Amino acid sequence: MSQIPEHVVVVGAGLGGLRTVEQLRSRGHTGRITLIGAEVHPPYDRPPLSKQILNGTWEPAKATFRDLEGLAELDVTTVFGKRAVGLDGTTVQLEDGTAVSGDVVVLATGVTARTLPGQPAGVVTLRTLDDAIALRGAFDSLSSLLIVGAGFIGAEVACAAHARGVQVTVLEALPVPVERALGREVGALAARLFTEGGIDLRCDTRITRFVDERTVELSDGSTLGADLVLVGIGSLPDVDWLASSGFDTTNGVACDASGRVVGTSGVWALGDIASWWDESRGRHHRNEHWTTTVDQSSIVASDILGTEPPAATVPYVWSDQFGMKVQTFGRTDLADEVAQLHGTGMDGGPVKGTVVGYFAGGVLVGVVGFGAPAKLVRYRAMIAEGAARDAVLAQSDAGSAVGG
Ligand SMILES: Cc1cc2nc3c(=O)[nH]c(=O)nc-3n(C[C@H](O)[C@H](O)[C@H](O)COP(=O)(O)OP(=O)(O)OC[C@H]3O[C@@H](n4cnc5c(N)ncnc54)[C@H](O)[C@@H]3O)c2cc1C
Repeated sequence: MSQIPEHVVVVGAGLGGLRTVEQLRSRGHTGRITLIGAEVHPPYDRPPLSKQILNGTWEPAKATFRDLEGLAELDVTTVFGKRAVGLDGTTVQLEDGTAVSGDVVVLATGVTARTLPGQPAGVVTLRTLDDAIALRGAFDSLSSLLIVGAGFIGAEVACAAHARGVQVTVLEALPVPVERALGREVGALAARLFTEGGIDLRCDTRITRFVDERTVELSDGSTLGADLVLVGIGSLPDVDWLASSGFDTTNGVACDASGRVVGTSGVWALGDIASWWDESRGRHHRNEHWTTTVDQSSIVASDILGTEPPAATVPYVWSDQFGMKVQTFGRTDLADEVAQLHGTGMDGGPVKGTVVGYFAGGVLVGVVGFGAPAKLVRYRAMIAEGAARDAVLAQSDAGSAVGG
């Protein structure tokens, strides 16, 4: 597109949608912007839903990024409480039969929580502000909670419930939590966080069916029940409404490295719904992380306006669990080797303070830290420059303790 568009329509009023609007304005766009959101709430932040809101340290309103007054400062037309149900070129069809046409469209509709086959209506998930408010309220009357899935959301909900005196059991189908993202050895450290934190974690445990909304049957034929069951097994890109668009939605909406939807002109996608071309992986890759979404919003805004794109960043993810920050820089999934850089968690010592490096072909591609933010941050630049293993180990406290 050679001309700067006059009217930008952004679909999805969450983190990615709002940040794109803010980036367009801060980069000098003076034309019209319309922000469409399925929820009635103004844009809000999701990480606090499973942290501060669930543990009661924040009232729900504090998660709001911008109220209607704040949105008015951006001079944006808002259409909230209306779901987009179709896209024809750069015209967005809404569920009430109306349509909004833009010169360009940005898709930022995120994901929905994955559910299990036959999941009863009384079994809960956590994705939205309303989910978090309902779950927090339910804690008052619970004595036991069964969580399916030991990922970051499962861990954070387990912490909040345990702190409220609820007896928590977590079921994980894989041998250790977060194995796909962090590998078996570091997953074992994550498992220790659960068990040392007072959670009954059962790995290698599969559900065969729901007996009712409070009881599951396991693959060994036994049953397990609790006052409430929460399923936290990941999410699915919200692409159903794009079914007739002809986009490649195999794993979210396929985009180039600037967020332009493949095979279109005038449509961009970002955030959890988008699968951007990732040169370092040599394929499209979809991230479901806060910082990636924010980074992508400035790339999309600069691409729409033809301004200088921001410098590349190192991916960053965090989770707050069991009294510490679990943080990751880089692309741990690319690694063929891990090495303990700080602490002694991999030798049976405390998990807190442990930092692990991830290497591919002898080059640092990622790090993960458990309650060690100051130590972790020094490796961000080394990941960006592709530092060699020896140079990384020379920076570390525990270079000799290498895992395979
Ligand atoms: C409980 C929770 C905790 C999290 N904690 C962390 C964390 O600690 N660290 C981290 O890195 N990431 C975390 N994340 C992930 C992070 O919040 C997401 O990566 C981020 O919100 C993605 O932004 P997005 O704009 O793509 O999607 P969202 O923020 O989900 O926004 C999408 C919006 O689009 C709307 N929408 C959907 N379909 C339509 C439609 N058809 N029409 C109109 N609107 C539609 C939705 O209602 C939603 O408001 C967490 C997520 C959750 C749910």
